[in-house]
Amino acid sequence: MISMGTTQTSVEATLHIDEASRENWDVIVLGAGVAGSATAFWAAKLGLKVLLIEAKRFPREKVCGGCLNSRAQQMLESIGILDDLRSAGAVPLTQLHVRVQQLGYTWSIPPLLSVRRSTLDSLLTQAAIRAGVSFLSETTGSIVSKDQESVQVRLQRTKHDENSTNLIATSKIVVLATGLTRSGLAPRNATLATSKQTTANQANTAQTWPSTISHDSRIGVHCLISEEDWQAWFSSTHVQLGSPSRQLNMLSGSNGYVGICLSDGGQVDLAAALAPNSLRGNTQNSKSMRNHAGGNKAGIPHAVAEILQECGVNVAPEFLNTKWQSTPELTRQSHCVAKENVFLVGDALGYIEPFTGEGMSWGLENAVKLAPLLHQALATGDIHSAETEWAKVVQLQRRTRQTVCRWVARQARSRWKSQWVLKVFQWIPSLRNQILKKAVA
Ligand SMILES: Cc1cc2nc3c(=O)[nH]c(=O)nc-3n(C[C@H](O)[C@H](O)[C@H](O)COP(=O)(O)OP(=O)(O)OC[C@H]3O[C@@H](n4cnc5c(N)ncnc54)[C@H](O)[C@@H]3O)c2cc1C
Repeated sequence: MISMGTTQTSVEATLHIDEASRENWDVIVLGAGVAGSATAFWAAKLGLKVLLIEAKRFPREKVCGGCLNSRAQQMLESIGILDDLRSAGAVPLTQLHVRVQQLGYTWSIPPLLSVRRSTLDSLLTQAAIRAGVSFLSETTGSIVSKDQESVQVRLQRTKHDENSTNLIATSKIVVLATGLTRSGLAPRNATLATSKQTTANQANTAQTWPSTISHDSRIGVHCLISEEDWQAWFSSTHVQLGSPSRQLNMLSGSNGYVGICLSDGGQVDLAAALAPNSLRGNTQNSKSMRNHAGGNKAGIPHAVAEILQECGVNVAPEFLNTKWQSTPELTRQSHCVAKENVFLVGDALGYIEPFTGEGMSWGLENAVKLAPLLHQALATGDIHSAETEWAKVVQLQRRTRQTVCRWVARQARSRWKSQWVLKVFQWIPSLRNQILKKAVA
């Protein structure tokens, strides 16, 4: 059942966990973020019997800047929810202010659309349900075994529920769309798990689904504050939310960068990629910020405030009490993208860094490309060929889509390199427009 709240959309499960375990599914999708919901949508549109499983209750926030680039907007239009996003208050951003410490420029960009993930993911999951997808909410799925014909997925209510711990759903194919952590790959039994078993299960995942995490990876953090708090807590002549044209602000400091923009519901979205050591609170600026706040808490708001101050933004001490969500290390890549009837999509495949709106369009594009492969695999019974084909598609997407992201990530590690790039962009608008088009269009 679907219900509309006054400001946010909630999405209820369409079936009970027992019913889900009694069916034989064509496809089970684990994770109802953008990649998972979109894959479920397109697979159902092709006539497949799909179960979508989400660990959280929607609407929920998650770490994300929430900026949809042109490609993502087109794909959401083809799913039929772009107008719904606009009606829900998604904010078009037409200016980019980039600042590396004291050097900053403001440029026009192809319009981005800023939306909270709680809004987007709920609308996307609703579209999947309308397309015929069965949805199980607040349930964690874990792949436990595979035989020749099918994959078994253990279903556990996310809030502990004794009666449902051993329910198993069966599917010909499983799509893993559980984000950076790739949760769901390891065999898991939450009721019995000891720390020893958890370690063994992690090792098992690492062996069977190896991935690389970059040694200098940053972590992602996110917070929403009201527009009123923004006005009261921050002052800067350059960093503006913008009026009438809305502005995405990308601010880079010694320990990472912060993206700030207005989002739906009158909320200001702050999303940052931070060097993990900046959270230990051992740099000079963060010490002075803590003293200013009269406390001694190292942590995320201090690290973010430090970057803002380096970029000339005055930050009120109240900001240091804000609550943030965080991710594990961002820069990682899964070596294997499909095997034994399990396909990875979205962030589960790997990720560079969140500069450009790349993440969500990558997940949405994965969905468009994977669904026909799954359909064909089930029609012919040849799932192995679909796995091989998916590996080729991902390799090509990685080459073409992530090149700019990797380049930006390298420049952003050094103050002088990124300031030099900004100056060149300012001097040569045609070059700037070309790169910006690749990066944000
Ligand atoms: C700081 C930051 C800013 C960003 N800004 C942008 C931006 O502005 N624009 C952009 O396009 N991208 C941005 N990104 C990237 C974007 O957030 C991701 O690429 C995108 O969320 C990936 O979508 P996904 O569906 O693969 O995974 P996710 O969105 O992470 O969704 C995974 C889902 O799976 C669920 N789940 C996890 N485990 C299980 C399980 N075992 N069973 C069931 N469900 C499970 C989770 O609850 C979650 O809902 C940003 C990322 C960061 C870190």
